[in-house]
Amino acid sequence: MQYKKFNDKYILRLDKGEEVVGTLKKFCQEKSIKLASISGIGASNKIELGLFNTREKKYYSRALEQDFEISSLIGNITEMDGKVYLHLHITLGDKDQNTFSGHLNSAIISGTCEIIIHAINGEVDRKFSNEIGLNLLEFN
Ligand code: FE
Repeated sequence: MQYKKFNDKYILRLDKGEEVVGTLKKFCQEKSIKLASISGIGASNKIELGLFNTREKKYYSRALEQDFEISSLIGNITEMDGKVYLHLHITLGDKDQNTFSGHLNSAIISGTCEIIIHAINGEVDRKFSNEIGLNLLEFN
């Protein structure tokens, strides 16, 4: 991974074989990025997507292994229990332009991935909601 910083924005290039979620988490920890929006595009050939079942309050995941364009990687960075917390969603396109999308658990880059992190000067926490079953944004 290589990057360049411009004021409060970071432009990243992830390379073949790198895993998106872990790389971004480590980067945010190292740079002390506590609140930010993330967007990206690229190519991946090994992805794990999640879907949260709101009735069961449980995540289901699915692994996909084929060539995909990452047509949209989008999400945010906040904190939970003083640690970096990433929430990423992804939309993928296959060779027939079918799309697959969901909560991003992991993605291995097959070509390149171009990511912009727009850091925000502030902090937003998260707290687990028993009612919903998810870690919700917490502003108190
Ligand atoms: Fe999600």
